[in-house]
Amino acid sequence: MALIESVAQRGAFIMQAELREFETKLAQFCNCKHAIGVANATDGLHLIARALEIGTGDEVIFCSHTMTATAAAIKFTGATPVPVDCKEDHLIDPQSIKSAITPKTKAILPTQLNGRTCAMDPILEIAEDNNLLIIEDSAQALGSKYNGKHAGTFGVGGVFSFYPAKTLGCLGDGGAVVTNSDELSEKIRLLQDHGRNEKGETVLWGINSRLDNIQAAILSYRLDNYETVIERRREIAKIYQSQLEDLEQLLLPPGPDSNQKHFDIFQNYEIEADKRDELKVYLKDNGIGTLIQWNGKPVHQIECYNFKTPLPHTDKVFERCLMLPMNISLTNDDVNYVCDKIRNFYSK
Ligand SMILES: *Cc1c(COP(=O)(O)O)cnc(C)c1O
Repeated sequence: MALIESVAQRGAFIMQAELREFETKLAQFCNCKHAIGVANATDGLHLIARALEIGTGDEVIFCSHTMTATAAAIKFTGATPVPVDCKEDHLIDPQSIKSAITPKTKAILPTQLNGRTCAMDPILEIAEDNNLLIIEDSAQALGSKYNGKHAGTFGVGGVFSFYPAKTLGCLGDGGAVVTNSDELSEKIRLLQDHGRNEKGETVLWGINSRLDNIQAAILSYRLDNYETVIERRREIAKIYQSQLEDLEQLLLPPGPDSNQKHFDIFQNYEIEADKRDELKVYLKDNGIGTLIQWNGKPVHQIECYNFKTPLPHTDKVFERCLMLPMNISLTNDDVNYVCDKIRNFYSK
């Protein structure tokens, strides 16, 4: 409240010191050169694609197990989003990327889903071999790493979302673009503010997609304690792992310490479960809320988009996937209670 009052008293609502400070802190946190506050992560993806002049006639490959925002950001550039399959860890399948490449393909857009960064080596290799750009939808993955490198910083640009339900949430909508490219950073700064440069001159067509200063102030404050948020989420994942890993009816996400190369932040704890729908009802009857991501449909299954591509693994995942409670208000007792109820369900 003190932060909000301070910003409001100064009338410092648009592009003020708090925003610049947050951008600097965020870039430092991710160990990258530039962070640019934008209105939301969807806009961030769209701005990156526009800045790279991706448009009509181009194709961009994305993983169907993602929010429709990933595909929509591409669609509105005039380019065609091309959905591909996921693997056992629910992240984009490099084989599926390879099969989808055509002479029109311009970029690969992996989603760093559930707070886990893809094994990026094969994806980087495919991109290099085929002269493709990599743009990351890391909306769910602030602080997630692969080989010590932050999600969002592998390709030409990446995005984060500060939607309230994300691991670092603000008091409404918010997002950021991160990049190591001076050129991309400059272009996005113009595009996001009506094409205006620092002198206020309009030098190209732009849109309005800025991160409000009041949100930046909140985010800056929250980022200072963000490591403890990640730590707690990993602790909860560890409890789920230890209490549920012997159940053969479940497929758990990789545990927090299962692979040295991956540092996951557990935006979500997404499992696969036999008798998923019955389990969901049973847990609800016991006071436990669970969610099926994307309202139960990966992007390629959304009827009005008419993709018509069957994606065998993703289709199978969506008959079985379920997100267990994962947030920092949970106590260890809460998590143990969830695990007990799941065990009860399968012992019946
Ligand atoms: C939340 C989310 C988005 C959209 O973020 P906004 O800030 O709401 O635009 C995009 N992709 C994924 C994977 C997300 O989880």
